[in-house]
Amino acid sequence: MSSAPAIVVTGPSGAGKGTLISELLRRLPQLEHTVSATTRERRPAEKDGREYWFLGPEEFELRVQAGEFLEHVTYVSGKRYGTLRSELDRIMRAGRVCVLELETEGALNAKRAVPGAYTIFIRAPVAELDRRLTERATETSTEIGDRLELAHRQLEQAGAFDCVIENDKLDHAADELERVVQQVLAPAATMDS
Ligand code: ADP
Ligand code: 5GP
Repeated sequence: MSSAPAIVVTGPSGAGKGTLISELLRRLPQLEHTVSATTRERRPAEKDGREYWFLGPEEFELRVQAGEFLEHVTYVSGKRYGTLRSELDRIMRAGRVCVLELETEGALNAKRAVPGAYTIFIRAPVAELDRRLTERATETSTEIGDRLELAHRQLEQAGAFDCVIENDKLDHAADELERVVQQVLAPAATMDS
């Protein structure tokens, strides 16, 4: 089993976490994304078990009660999100490194819960988040407003994470993310060899 740490990517909605993680996984195949559970609605392009495990509120709560979550939060609009312990077990058993994409509260909890977890905050200005979320058009304008309101508080927390990457030019941010993750994984790779 790899002794490499988990990589936690966080930041406000619209910062580009999902986009950057996709590119990171393409570049570093030893990484694998944990599939979170959520009670939010599935977007048309999403598939159950690929982007998320889409659960009803009752089933989510049952799994909370059963202690199945490493961390879980209630996000804007009362929707719940959480990382299943089984996802980390699955990826680690395969000798791969987990990548978690979490909002900031969950990222801080995951840092405490997973020894060696490395946290990366993806940042972009609020006006740009607004522009990107409006263009992405996966939430209603009310939900976008709620996410932007939360973003102001989340941006103030950036200093609590191990590293901050500004996602201005996408290719620059992707290069920077790859560089940082390579550096984090380097000692583990040495220990494994
Ligand atoms: P998050 O996962 O943080 O909510 P996404 O990865 O979904 O964010 O990105 C939000 C939107 O912004 C997407 O439509 C994505 O294509 C776009 N995007 C991501 N990074 C950039 C960038 N550097 N410049 C312009 N648009 C971007
Ligand atoms: P979205 O609805 O845009 O897919 O995700 C909303 C927010 O929830 C994003 O900031 C995303 O990173 C976060 N998120 C996704 N999965 C989890 C999870 O398992 N736990 C926590 N704490 N946040 C998550």
